[in-house]
Amino acid sequence: MGFVHLHVHSEYSILDATCRIEELLLKAKEYGMKALALTDHGNLCGAIEFHHKVKNYGIKPIIGTELYFAPRGRFDRMPGPRYYHLLALAENEQGYKNLLKLSSLGYTEGFYYKPRIDMELLERYSDGLILTSACKSGILAKPLLQGNRQEAENWGRALRDLVGPENFFVEIQNHGLPEERELNDSLIELARRLELPLLATNDVHYIAPEDCEAHEVLLNIQSDKTVLSEDRRSFEGDQYYFKSADRADGRAIPRPSRGIGEQPPDRRAMQPEVEVGRRSPALLRAAPGAAQSGRIPEGVDISGSRGALRRPASPGGSPAAGV
Ligand SMILES: [Zn+2]
Ligand SMILES: [Zn+2]
Repeated sequence: MGFVHLHVHSEYSILDATCRIEELLLKAKEYGMKALALTDHGNLCGAIEFHHKVKNYGIKPIIGTELYFAPRGRFDRMPGPRYYHLLALAENEQGYKNLLKLSSLGYTEGFYYKPRIDMELLERYSDGLILTSACKSGILAKPLLQGNRQEAENWGRALRDLVGPENFFVEIQNHGLPEERELNDSLIELARRLELPLLATNDVHYIAPEDCEAHEVLLNIQSDKTVLSEDRRSFEGDQYYFKSADRADGRAIPRPSRGIGEQPPDRRAMQPEVEVGRRSPALLRAAPGAAQSGRIPEGVDISGSRGALRRPASPGGSPAAGV
């Protein structure tokens, strides 16, 4: 099995990605990829559609989600870091059930700007999950970028001890951003110190490079800005597209400025990608529609357009925003 995409956002990463599931599958098929993950932000809303459509393509579906991890607990709403990204892939049926739990509890218990989970929930629901450290907003990268090496190392150790070193990967990415090179060096060094495997990914948010403009418009809608706003949100560059294995080999796979042992850095990073694709079996044997029943938990007020997501904030804080 060659390169497969394991960090992929669809339109179910609401107002954050433009890819339709069918388009992702068509591209994966065109590029001869044997497996494909779906890792939408905080939810599994695309999992059933993915499961149904993938059957027509002979591609192994890997169900995942890019979780929001609240470093000070899912109930915390004080100023400071609200969340880091943490990617989770289901390795088996138990893992899939745990993803459902984590996603649901993120919304019903941890929602504050985003559906957030925390270490306590991971301790309860991490069986059958492969965790990876996600993007530059990730649980290792964000503290490293802020100069908090100790915090990054603490989270690295905690997650390694929770799921085991074979199930926690340090994710490295290359979207051509200047800060990524130094960041990748730090991540690789941390991985070596904690004896964790590396995983090279491309953070897929749109299908083709030319879609980056449409993607930026979507981000502006999310943040209530226009393309003319000076403080609008955008992703730097046009490298968040669905790359072929060749492109991924040549451009997406990070090339650290320092070596990482006997193996060439790009191969060392590639191998876990292959391994994860092989290990994670096709999932979702549950009946269609069984994944998310849509039952509203007791005590949650659903009045108003975003009522289900609004909870009183802590004193002095702002109310939880929608999406
Ligand atoms: Zn991310
Ligand atoms: Zn992502």
